[in-house]
Amino acid sequence: MTRLLHRAIRGTMPVAIGGAGITLNDADGKSYIDASGGAAVSCLGHGHPDVIAALHRQADRLAYAHTGFFTSEPAEALAERLIEDAPPGISHVYLVSGGSEAVEAALKMARQYFVEKGEPQRRHIIARRQSYHGNTLGALAAGGNELRRAQFKPLLIETHHIDPCYAYRLQKPGESDQAYAARAAQQLEDKIIELGPDQVIAFVAETVVGATAGAVPPVADYLARIRSICDRYGILLILDEVMCGMGRTGTLHACTQDGVAPDLMTLAKGLGAGYQPIGAVLLSQHIFDAFAGGSGFFQHGHTYMGHPMAAAAALAVQDVIRRDNLLANVAAIGAELDRRLQERFADHRHVGDIRGRGLFRGLELVADRATKQTFNPALKLHARVKQAAMAHGLMVYAMGGTIDGRHGDHVLLAPPFIVTRADIEVIVERLGAAIDDAIASIPA
Ligand code: PLP
Repeated sequence: MTRLLHRAIRGTMPVAIGGAGITLNDADGKSYIDASGGAAVSCLGHGHPDVIAALHRQADRLAYAHTGFFTSEPAEALAERLIEDAPPGISHVYLVSGGSEAVEAALKMARQYFVEKGEPQRRHIIARRQSYHGNTLGALAAGGNELRRAQFKPLLIETHHIDPCYAYRLQKPGESDQAYAARAAQQLEDKIIELGPDQVIAFVAETVVGATAGAVPPVADYLARIRSICDRYGILLILDEVMCGMGRTGTLHACTQDGVAPDLMTLAKGLGAGYQPIGAVLLSQHIFDAFAGGSGFFQHGHTYMGHPMAAAAALAVQDVIRRDNLLANVAAIGAELDRRLQERFADHRHVGDIRGRGLFRGLELVADRATKQTFNPALKLHARVKQAAMAHGLMVYAMGGTIDGRHGDHVLLAPPFIVTRADIEVIVERLGAAIDDAIASIPA
């Protein structure tokens, strides 16, 4: 009998006992290729000796010192590193313990920013259907995945949702990317005008939508248009790169590829690569100045923020990525992964879309390619794919959801940055077998 709630509800699960490189092993001696990095976390794979050595060194020196009393060397060094590589305008870092905490902190920063500026009436957050921003109450309110939100409504913050930029389902036949980008971004301007521009705090979006949609990148020009709408109305742009950031798409920050810099950015997952729980908010100079010139304090805090062990792990992870030039591998092997996925699934009758950037790739599964009709959600095809993949010794992140999370199935691949061409071949082969097994398991 298990006393762990999530397992008591889910039932049998393998017991993970070890891992090396891109592989995880269970207590029964079975091994799994980690083609999803867990939940797009393990970007260096498992058991990386340099990160483990850094953790040992830090544990020997200092495990914990509360940020109310002390700063620490690894936290300072990590903040320096993150600023060195940050998008233009970003000046400071706030370290927390994960993605939801980062999103909460960013939302509160945005709110306090306007309070400091003498605009406390601003209270609306605009976000997008489909997105996932975390499971704490504020982050859940910002998220647009109805499956996760429904039981907790009414949520605590006033959020308003517009459509995602989701070319596969929302771009019209014959519509150019430019025209679609303009139409999709226009929804933000319309919503701001409807709510009253002086009532809105921020727009929050994942640069590339991850967990709840399967690596949906924006079309060219969309984010640039979003940026200029935010600027026109004096609204903050928060980009959530918890999943798609820290190199996953081939550049350290996904938004670099769109030529856009946010006012606030959230990071987690790949930042610490799973060796420690860590998240961060990157904030721009004008937000820092509002705090510094106002109350002098960001009214927030967590017991484990800036944790020395977590910061040491993240710094070691980032050092390895830089030293081994792994972002070049993400770009090159990511292109190879895309090529192999196209080769294997472009004509598959139940794969409607293949998308993504770098080593962040998604497949959308459909009952009918011509109509893009989703499978009946009661069939839980995504869960069948995940289970079949595990049987084939492959971890993939398979989830339900298209526009609002109620229907649709997709599979997300986010393998470690150290993955090779040969690994990609095995991953695609096992994924193909898993999808076919899952579909075959559907009752006639
Ligand atoms: N934001 C995004 C884009 C995410 O994908 C996630 C987690 O999947 C979160 C926030 C929440 O992060 P965490 O699970 O670390 O709280």
